[in-house]
Amino acid sequence: MNRESRIYVAGHRGMVGSAIVRRLREEGFERIVTRARTGLDLTDARAVDAFFAEERPEYVFLAAAKVGGILANATCPAGFIRENLAIELNVIEAAHRHGVKKLLFLGSSCIYPRHAPQPIKEEYLLTGALEPTNQPYAIAKIAGIELCRSYRRQYGADFISVMPTNLYGPNDDFDPRTSHVLPALIRRFHEAKERGDEAVVVWGSGRPRREFLHVDDLADACVFLMERYSAEEPINVGVGKDMSIASLAELVREVVGYEGEIRFDPSKPDGTPRKLLDVGRLHSMGWRARIPLREGIERTYRWYLEDAVPAL
Ligand code: GDP
Repeated sequence: MNRESRIYVAGHRGMVGSAIVRRLREEGFERIVTRARTGLDLTDARAVDAFFAEERPEYVFLAAAKVGGILANATCPAGFIRENLAIELNVIEAAHRHGVKKLLFLGSSCIYPRHAPQPIKEEYLLTGALEPTNQPYAIAKIAGIELCRSYRRQYGADFISVMPTNLYGPNDDFDPRTSHVLPALIRRFHEAKERGDEAVVVWGSGRPRREFLHVDDLADACVFLMERYSAEEPINVGVGKDMSIASLAELVREVVGYEGEIRFDPSKPDGTPRKLLDVGRLHSMGWRARIPLREGIERTYRWYLEDAVPAL
């Protein structure tokens, strides 16, 4: 990529896509192409093809996806597999057909087997059964990886796949019905503090372990990998450390400044017991996450107060 390259960021309104656009701008890339959902339906193959014919992007960050937390995945399984498969197929095929020089596809750490050894190495993909709560989403993401790999093999396309761990940051989804744990807890603790509630409920047992990466770190890694990584194996992006949901809840409680109690609701699903990515491959290339979790949560809480609360 150079400063003159035409770069399409699919999903630029989302948490990941918006972070990639910010990062590209910071680095001086100016020819960034985006399209709002109302102007381009990525599940419509013809519309996507026409868009590529018109805009002729040279580089593509495929960050558009239907995403959601554990409950949304359980209640809308068809939507998660259908929309994600359609978006991947349409964008990857159009990128190939219109001679895109390089495409970076964003997957997810839930593509790995539920009982994968920890930390999870890239080669554990397809070595065991998936976590059932998000299997439709995971299978769509695995299909995306396979599309990139197959187009590379058959057509020599330089399409790569990047697997981020659990993400958080500005533009995250704070709707309790669809959000992931970190934004859900920021909002719940904040509202409990405002109302003076005695306790806050955290789903599940508190024992599952997750790793959390600030989306600005992910965006930095994506730009880095777009410039330096070219292989058919996916590459993990994470911080290399995990924590229990109970400890996360405690940390969010402190950042928000809520003084009540934390209670667990075991009737809600725990999901996969542990998800920690092995980031050895990325570290050996010289990239490391920089934003410490507490600072990242503080920044996200500030964003929530300034940008999300007024829009609620
Ligand atoms: P996952 O990593 O795909 O399981 O995604 P989530 O971020 O939705 O959930 C991570 C863990 O946090 C699971 O064990 C959830 O049960 C737990 N959790 C605790 N409270 C909440 C909450 O309010 N919302 C969500 N989404 N998860 C929660």
